[in-house]
Amino acid sequence: MTQPNRDSGTHTGDAQQTTPPATHENPGGSHSSGSSQQPLDRARLTALLAEERRSYQQRNPRSRTAHEKAGHLLGGVPMTWMAKSAAGFPLYLERAAGARVTDLDGHELIDFCLGDTGAMAGHSPAPTVAAVARRYGELGGATTMMPTEDAAVVAGELAHRFGASRWSFALSATDANRWALRLARAFTGRSRILVNSYSYHGSVDESFIVTGPDGPRSRPGNVGAPVDPTVTSRVVEFNDLDGLERELSYGDVAAVLMEPALTNMGIVLPLPGYLDGVRELTRAAGALLVNDETHTISAGPGGCTGAWGLAPDIVTVGKAIGGGIPIGAYGLSEPLAEELWARPDLDLVDTGGVGGTLAGNALSLAAARATLTEVLTPAAYAHMTALATTYTAGVERIVQDHGLPWSVVRLGARAEYRFAAPAPLNGTSSQAATDAELEDYLHLFLINRGVLLTPFHNMALMCPQTSAADVETHLSLLDAAVRALVA
Ligand code: PMP
Repeated sequence: MTQPNRDSGTHTGDAQQTTPPATHENPGGSHSSGSSQQPLDRARLTALLAEERRSYQQRNPRSRTAHEKAGHLLGGVPMTWMAKSAAGFPLYLERAAGARVTDLDGHELIDFCLGDTGAMAGHSPAPTVAAVARRYGELGGATTMMPTEDAAVVAGELAHRFGASRWSFALSATDANRWALRLARAFTGRSRILVNSYSYHGSVDESFIVTGPDGPRSRPGNVGAPVDPTVTSRVVEFNDLDGLERELSYGDVAAVLMEPALTNMGIVLPLPGYLDGVRELTRAAGALLVNDETHTISAGPGGCTGAWGLAPDIVTVGKAIGGGIPIGAYGLSEPLAEELWARPDLDLVDTGGVGGTLAGNALSLAAARATLTEVLTPAAYAHMTALATTYTAGVERIVQDHGLPWSVVRLGARAEYRFAAPAPLNGTSSQAATDAELEDYLHLFLINRGVLLTPFHNMALMCPQTSAADVETHLSLLDAAVRALVA
């Protein structure tokens, strides 16, 4: 198995690439903590952030008015996460194409957020637009409860990329995860789900658990848990095989649900041998291994599973594969699928609770077929990964030039800077590196000058239409933002 090169902190996700071993002393993520490093001038940061907020509010009167008129929306937004804004109201979308979004006030932004991966194929790629128009318009029939031939093509493509042999569809990655966990419980007859601390798998109740000095607990901010997740779940740190072995030893874990590299609390890469260890320990304990590749699909056409030759029992994917049209999918290994389907005691066809009326709909699958076969191709990945490599090297240079205690980590076409060096090795230490004020400042500085990063973190994703010039624009703006801060 080929796992990432932790010495450089970057890897291409190419299965054939051989990589030197990593060390804890020089962990994942290129990083710099220059000796000239000064403590951050918080007063200066606060003043700069206030200035950027003023500028944002002045530049975006139409977005502000649209927000003011949205009183019937809970929190003034169609989805509560959209209320996360560094300046009081979100930018409203007018239109989007490729690597660009245009807001209501007419500003065109280079989009490195890409819908937090949902638009990794770029906004409205032509083949997906054509397939959707044909399915919904010309042919008609988005939702019929009848299969289309597209479904088998998509399943074949996913099987080829990820190795998992039998696929089923959902409308979101969250649901794909929920259904994978149900099947895992049914299959093993065990109740608990094990996750990594500060991982994210969508609004899957079992996953909102974190480790802490006093043991596992519900993740701060978790809302409306049906029961305390310490009852349903077990939790360990990413990269901690001893902890995993200990938690699996209770014999009650149905499945380990994990990202092969954490992507929702910065990017945390696996140490060499870690993923092999996870596979060995889960097999030995009789727990299924579920690789959530919703975000790590940035590592290559088959995500980390394909790039690093992993062998999970179940793979889940979502958002990116539909080119922006809602879809999720889970793929089972051949033996697991055969055994599950042959179980007379499991009602998978009716009450079983692993489907949905809209799941597997014709429109989503037409979109996924076009996106996978014509847009997110190996050639597109090569382009995106090369750009992310340039991006990462550029951020590294800025970090070094200014002696910042930051790190930058890349996973294929995705890169993220984090306010810690060396790069954190698990979710808890990455979470501890959060600096909301600094993040808001950088986000607003960039937005006010035409660049969009992913809210909630400093993540940048490349799509097939992202250009080298786009990457350079981000780098020169980041440099300017940092110069203003450390001047
Ligand atoms: N899994 C992972 C790893 C994710 O990052 C996310 C969302 N960011 C999800 C699942 C859930 O995806 P969705 O919100 O599209 O259901």
